[in-house]
Amino acid sequence: MTSEDPTIITSRLPSPLATVEQEIARACEQARRDRASVELIAVSKTFGAEAITPIIEAGQCVFGENRVQEAKAKWPALISSYPGITLHLIGPLQSNKAKEAVALFDAIHSVDRGSICQALAKEIESQQKRPELFVQVNTGEEPQKAGVAPTEADDFIKRCRETYGLRVSGLMCIPPVDDAPAPHFALTAKIAARNGLKKLSMGMSADFAIAIQFGATHVRVGSAIFGHRSVTPP
Ligand SMILES: *Cc1c(COP(=O)(O)O)cnc(C)c1O
Repeated sequence: MTSEDPTIITSRLPSPLATVEQEIARACEQARRDRASVELIAVSKTFGAEAITPIIEAGQCVFGENRVQEAKAKWPALISSYPGITLHLIGPLQSNKAKEAVALFDAIHSVDRGSICQALAKEIESQQKRPELFVQVNTGEEPQKAGVAPTEADDFIKRCRETYGLRVSGLMCIPPVDDAPAPHFALTAKIAARNGLKKLSMGMSADFAIAIQFGATHVRVGSAIFGHRSVTPP
């Protein structure tokens, strides 16, 4: 802290986080939804502690990362300084990282195959820790993207429950970049409803307001909060 406290000046400027908050509030109002029904996940991938700390200080306590290794390198120290942080894994998970993922994350949004289910079930049992689980649906059926095909989703959700004994909370989707997102959100919401799943992880910086119209309970917002990412994650 300098003697001329710089926060006196900067606090008058609308911060990106405050702008995202306002847009979420407006989208909830338009959709006649309670603001508390939507959780903002601040996606901090590629950003270091120096960029994350001011966002925590501004009151944000839910964060998302897409790689287990990266999250492991930066979050344990931050969490010990700021207890009460909730961490979501939003990127693909490999079975050999399930142990670390269950240990570090409060929620995993990328459950999409039997080997992951099996690895998660084993770790949930042995660590006695139960992260919230989302099944990722590849609504655009893009070959390079993770997630189960929409036509296989019902069966996969059933297998998660019956074969692996997993408690699934909801569904996650990432619409294809060049498509209008609304039909993808609608499809995800429909699959969730018919499987009795209440949570929907959908909507990113460009489309979280639309996702809220379609029932998103978790929006994953990165660049609108942290700015442009110089490193493009895979
Ligand atoms: C990076 C990422 C986001 C955030 O994307 P922005 O466009 O920066 O908001 C959301 N979800 C997933 C799965 C991501 O990998």
